[in-house]
Amino acid sequence: QVVSVKKALDGSIAPDSKVEVRGWVRTRRDSKAGISFVNVTDGSTFDPIQVVAPNTLPNYEKEVLHLTAGSSVVCRGTLVKSQGKGQSFEVQAEEVKVLGFVDDPDTYPIQPKQHTLEFLREVAHLRPRTNTFGAITRVRHVAAQAVHRFFHEEGFFWVNTPIITASDAEGAGQMFRVSTLDAMNPPRTDAGKIDWGKDFFGKEAYLTVSGQLNVEAYCLALSKVYTFGPTFRAENSNTTRHLAEFWMIEPEIAFADLNEDANLAERFLKYVFKAVLAECGPDMKFFEERQQKGVIERMEKFINSSFERIDYTDAIEILKKAKKKFDYAPEWGNDLQTEHERYLTEEHVGRPVVVMNYPEKIKAFYMRLNEDGRTVAAMDVLAPGIGEIIGGSQREERLDMLDKRMVQFGLKPEHYQWYRDLRRYGTVPHAGFGLGFERLIVYMCGLQNIRDAIPYPRVPGSAQF
Ligand code: ATP
Ligand code: MG
Ligand code: MG
Ligand code: MG
Repeated sequence: QVVSVKKALDGSIAPDSKVEVRGWVRTRRDSKAGISFVNVTDGSTFDPIQVVAPNTLPNYEKEVLHLTAGSSVVCRGTLVKSQGKGQSFEVQAEEVKVLGFVDDPDTYPIQPKQHTLEFLREVAHLRPRTNTFGAITRVRHVAAQAVHRFFHEEGFFWVNTPIITASDAEGAGQMFRVSTLDAMNPPRTDAGKIDWGKDFFGKEAYLTVSGQLNVEAYCLALSKVYTFGPTFRAENSNTTRHLAEFWMIEPEIAFADLNEDANLAERFLKYVFKAVLAECGPDMKFFEERQQKGVIERMEKFINSSFERIDYTDAIEILKKAKKKFDYAPEWGNDLQTEHERYLTEEHVGRPVVVMNYPEKIKAFYMRLNEDGRTVAAMDVLAPGIGEIIGGSQREERLDMLDKRMVQFGLKPEHYQWYRDLRRYGTVPHAGFGLGFERLIVYMCGLQNIRDAIPYPRVPGSAQF
């Protein structure tokens, strides 16, 4: 029977069964007694399985002895308990079929040694073959499944919001333009420049920066919904926290205020962390040992602590009184910098923090104005070791207030008629949040750079894969 390496190792196959494992060679070691030990991995689990290949195999000299890292093989034989330390089972091979050799082993980029993550970014198509990216990929998968499971169990519906949109939900002017121009023969201006005009079949269109506005419409009909899909922002800077293309999770709940939103965020994060700790044991152990000491404990602490809620105005006071010297002095009216966020969550309280009620001027137009007239019902969830991981708010459900804020932000209400309709036809208080999926992966895997949290990172100057 064909079995995955995971199954072969986890004890679910009876010893002495005949098995076939397929995968790629990690390492090969030859003993003087004429036996080769070939470690084979198929990505199904962290550890490779050891295939014991004796020199009695007909292709031993010609093929087995030429196997190098990256070669692909199909091995048939008997699954036996392993004598070796740390290994549960191995395959006593009766046949090792080589499907593909590595044509030039000396220049094969993924040698069996530790590579820097910077180097691996240059070979994004081969890095999934490393321990590190195998583990990240599995954690990403388990986390994504947990996201869907969480919302499903809580009675949410998954809504696929459009990728091509007309509205800049965040008003941050970081949009990529979509074009239907004939690239071979684009229209030109009198000066000979390409005339981008209104180029989505005659209308202006952009790649979405957030699915929120669209998901709100579904929220005001199905009560609890979420979107989870790709998001694009023209982040023209090189940070370790920003990608030009990332995946965002955005739930939206009707008949809810900011407190309920914060409760949801807390339950959500804890649920996903628990799932990853429970289902990704060997991968998490690897991150703990090789990526960042303490990542597992950090997640366990996160799961077991209740989030502290701090009003933005109080947060500014706390920061002003702090002994710490900040690069940017905290000032009421300015957004919190990462250094401020980390101080609050790491040093001031030592657990996750939800900062609430930010000045209205620094937050998006759709956030609900508070009674004080100068703050909005916005929240950021701050996590020790990273800072902002979630941004959310209660939405402005009153049409007159919404219109006022749009004008104030330089937006034309007539461009948002459909969004305004939601406030005209049976409006209700509602709230939601946005979470960058890659920020979550960075946090769980103890990574330093968000470029390692997504298979093919899109940042300025990198779109070759
Ligand atoms: P930041 O201050 O880090 O730029 P933001 O305030 O612009 O984030 P929001 O508009 O609040 O981000 O988006 C919601 C969430 O999306 C953020 O909390 C973060 O997790 C994630 N996020 C935002 N921009 C990016 C990006 N360029 N790459 C990856 N994740 C991002
Ligand atoms: Mg931003
Ligand atoms: Mg921010
Ligand atoms: Mg934000």
